[in-house]
Amino acid sequence: MSVGENITEFKRRLNQTNCKLIAVSKTKPIELILDAYSAGQLDFGENKVQELREKPSQLPEDIRWHMIGHLQTNKVKYIAPFIYLIHAVDSLKLLAEINKQALKNDRIINCLLQVHIAEEEHKFGFDESGLQKLLSSPEFHSLLNIKISGLMGMATYTDDRDQIRSEFKTLKRIFDAIKGEHSAPNLEMKEISMGMSDDYPIAIEEGSTMIRVGSKIFGARNYTK
Ligand SMILES: *Cc1c(COP(=O)(O)O)cnc(C)c1O
Repeated sequence: MSVGENITEFKRRLNQTNCKLIAVSKTKPIELILDAYSAGQLDFGENKVQELREKPSQLPEDIRWHMIGHLQTNKVKYIAPFIYLIHAVDSLKLLAEINKQALKNDRIINCLLQVHIAEEEHKFGFDESGLQKLLSSPEFHSLLNIKISGLMGMATYTDDRDQIRSEFKTLKRIFDAIKGEHSAPNLEMKEISMGMSDDYPIAIEEGSTMIRVGSKIFGARNYTK
């Protein structure tokens, strides 16, 4: 199937769910992104600041660009003028820098807090007590040019479907807990970004509102070239 057909098929599947598709276009050329756009896709995800500095100027202006990868504090300034949503905020320091750059650009930047739900040590993100601590801190409440609109997580890379499901359930439980317990002008808990090409059906069943799908739309990535 072509990229456009894949988009159409995802739209059909997500129709009547509360879940949106973020088409992950990292490493993929402008032409393929345009194919997806022509099929009606407006939300695209990238995981490298470099690609986010190169691609948008060559593509339609109504595309909503999502930063889904690990973001370094010193690179926030490059994406602050236009980024639609930053999915993987994993420290107060990063949040403070996003706030500073948002202020400079006279805008409010939407962010998701990344939660560490996987077994793997190397994955980034807060644990539950770290999240509670952040959201209760005076520093967080002073950041008025960011808005936390939900949480993001990545399940363990495994064939064990039960484990993946249980990790997504954990993210949903933490989301519900925070939604019930915290309220602030810069906090509006509505999005749960979870699910990728291999696990998105489970993620949707467990309450995902944003799936981040790359290879199932654009084909396998080639990192060697
Ligand atoms: C690459 C990437 C995805 C998409 O991965 P696929 O398996 O190709 O769907 C989703 N989320 C993040 C954070 C990624 O880096």
